Amino acid sequence: MTSPDYASILDEIYRDLRPHFGRGRVADYIPELANVRAEHFGMAIVTVDGHVYRSGDADLRFSIQSISKLFACTLAFQLLGDSLWDRVGREPSGNAFNSLVQLEFEAGKPRNPFINAGALVVTDVLCRRFVRAETALVEFVRRLTGEPSIDYDLRVAESELAHAERNRAMAHFMASFGNMDMPADAVIDAYCRQCAISMNCVELARAALFLANGGVSPANGEQVVDASSAKRLSALMLTCGTYDAAGDFVYRVGLPAKSGVGGGIVAVLPGEFAVCVWSPGLDPTGNSQVGQMALEWLTTRTGRSIF
Ligand code: GLU
Repeated sequence: MTSPDYASILDEIYRDLRPHFGRGRVADYIPELANVRAEHFGMAIVTVDGHVYRSGDADLRFSIQSISKLFACTLAFQLLGDSLWDRVGREPSGNAFNSLVQLEFEAGKPRNPFINAGALVVTDVLCRRFVRAETALVEFVRRLTGEPSIDYDLRVAESELAHAERNRAMAHFMASFGNMDMPADAVIDAYCRQCAISMNCVELARAALFLANGGVSPANGEQVVDASSAKRLSALMLTCGTYDAAGDFVYRVGLPAKSGVGGGIVAVLPGEFAVCVWSPGLDPTGNSQVGQMALEWLTTRTGRSIF
């Protein structure tokens, strides 16, 4: 099958989406994120055979927030394999990403690694293994992208740390059920720093590309995970990667994806490409409003999705 003309399609999407730039609401519960202009829009596709297509602000770094949960989960899965699932489930939660309610009914075992409670368990795994979990994660994405300048933004991390009451409550609550090995506050500290990693669309697409390539990172040839694990991580993205809107997102876009409240969404088409879109305005489910439109148009106009 010949590849679609991704360069022209990205240009068209940019042009047709322009009247919608700025739509949605920029996250402001982390004060530092509220300073980002809603009108930004960037999109990048990186193919497994090495082509890069970009439009708009594709080279401007932004706060990856929950997209970090994908990389953290990959590292934890590398370390623990299936025993990770003793501590965190693999089901969509049907609740908001930062909800506490289910945790009590389910004895402190979060539904999946992409809601905050599940991500805190994953970060706990990393904190136990590494002296500084966030540094291990930064080094991981640097390797996946070949970009040594990637780092976390201290101002964003401190801004979230100063407003992390809900996540702190979650971590302590899970500790009360015995599902936290390290001190809850140390885990929160590492978690806020990992969420504050800044990357651009090209870098994020490149970093996620191993999932589209049987677990091998085309950037450096590293076997990040085996092909079966790449399938499993992608399946989790499909069912749980876009918060409580995963069903609607899959209906519209048809790709495994992970979103963040910084307005980024990264998605993969196995065997072909990884794509990242960034538009900071969110819809009420916490997903980038214009970003979802861009991905829906991409899969509709190219006729390419996992279905
Ligand atoms: N750091 C954010 C939080 O814990 C991440 C949320 C997100 O991007 O979904 O609230």
